[in-house]
Amino acid sequence: WAKEDGKARWTLFDPERNAHRMTRQALSSTLRPAVEREEFVLDYQPLVGLVDGVVKGVEALVRWEHPRFGRLSPNRFISLAEENGAIVPLGRWVLRTACRQARAWQLAHPHNPLIVSVNVAVRQVWDSDLVADVAAILAETGLPPHLLELELTESAVMGSAGRPLQALLRLSEMGVAIAIDDFGTGYSNLAYLSRLPVSTLKLDGSFVQGFRAEEHPNPADETIVQALVELAHRLGLTVTAECVESAEQAERLARIGCDTGQGWFYSRPVPPEQISAMIGGHPAATGAP
Ligand code: C2E
Ligand code: MG
Ligand code: MG
Ligand code: MG
Repeated sequence: WAKEDGKARWTLFDPERNAHRMTRQALSSTLRPAVEREEFVLDYQPLVGLVDGVVKGVEALVRWEHPRFGRLSPNRFISLAEENGAIVPLGRWVLRTACRQARAWQLAHPHNPLIVSVNVAVRQVWDSDLVADVAAILAETGLPPHLLELELTESAVMGSAGRPLQALLRLSEMGVAIAIDDFGTGYSNLAYLSRLPVSTLKLDGSFVQGFRAEEHPNPADETIVQALVELAHRLGLTVTAECVESAEQAERLARIGCDTGQGWFYSRPVPPEQISAMIGGHPAATGAP
């Protein structure tokens, strides 16, 4: 009946919605102190060669160990942190923690270098000195720049004259790799991207999801991915597919020529101790397709 009464009343009196809003406010206002108290942890998810099944790198994914709400996924707080600016200190913590961990892996497995990928929010490029932060953290942790990759979204780099472009150029001069995350969800412009110092496209999971349903196969999805991969390769970019959940998807992606896969088929995001066991070998449970 609430809906029939009109949207305004529904919005005003829905207790669930109100609780949701209060939780958002509570989370938003405690983000900064939570960074200071280091209430966050990083899980890591392998990026696996689609043909050889070797773990090439890992993506660092942040989680909030909230004292009251338990473990929170980044979808609950990253956008809040972007809104209120807490993403800058949080992002710095993520970068430092991931680089420190990657350096420890490098020292423990010198013959199997792992690239660590770190997500970077738009605001870190615009409102902070990302280049100085990266340089300081690499120096402090001893991680060689070529073992670090930064994942930026299309919106962070598209139309990026000025500051973001300068930052990308300087990072790539330092030897840090740049990947475009969730590629295909924004204002995709491969011609423009190819002129930026970008080395990898991470195809958004929605592309691979079209591969899934055997009962409703969608050949268009596969054709589009194949064309994207071919074009990206001609432009000198490597391609990672997100959300690889089945052996069938991994096989089809490999056949299409996609380079790297990431997803539950290989491994969920896991604590760093579990990554150590995979280094130099095949991912724990499933193995290569
Ligand atoms: P993303 O960078 O695109 O990361 C991939 C997301 O897909 C992760 O969600 C991962 O757990 C999930 N995923 C991996 N494999 C599969 C699969 O096979 N199937 C499905 N359905 N999902 C899969 P997560 O960890 O919840 O992170 C969500 C988003 O939060 C990330 O998307 C990224 O945009 C953001 N994020 C995470 N950590 C950070 C961070 O440190 N800084 C910033 N700025 N953003 C972050
Ligand atoms: Mg990412
Ligand atoms: Mg992604
Ligand atoms: Mg995604």
